Amino acid sequence: MNSSKYFTLKEARIGNNCPECYSNDSLELTLKQKLIETRFYKAITEETISELRCLNCEMSIFPIRWTEDIERVVDYHKRGLKIRPKSTKLKPIAWGLIVLGVVLLITTVLFVAEIISI
Ligand SMILES: [Zn+2]
Repeated sequence: MNSSKYFTLKEARIGNNCPECYSNDSLELTLKQKLIETRFYKAITEETISELRCLNCEMSIFPIRWTEDIERVVDYHKRGLKIRPKSTKLKPIAWGLIVLGVVLLITTVLFVAEIISI
């Protein structure tokens, strides 16, 4: 079990023309940051993605269709972006396993020490 998720950092309407329907006030840019979640931990990565969607023709505009103007505006928004710092958080189940491991280790040490002292 290992899944990548993205959370939204910023949404902005940009004034460029849509490469599909040429509407000039319907492009919505969404900047997202990647998050990896497993059963044991949740980690925020430094990877970001940009998604562009036209609210008029309801198309996702993939980077291959972006014009130079769109790229410039996306770059501009990316520069002003405050991404969340990289971090990893262990989930309670991971802590439980760590505690269990420590308890087992201590028990083993005590057990071995007991045998030696006999
Ligand atoms: Zn459009």
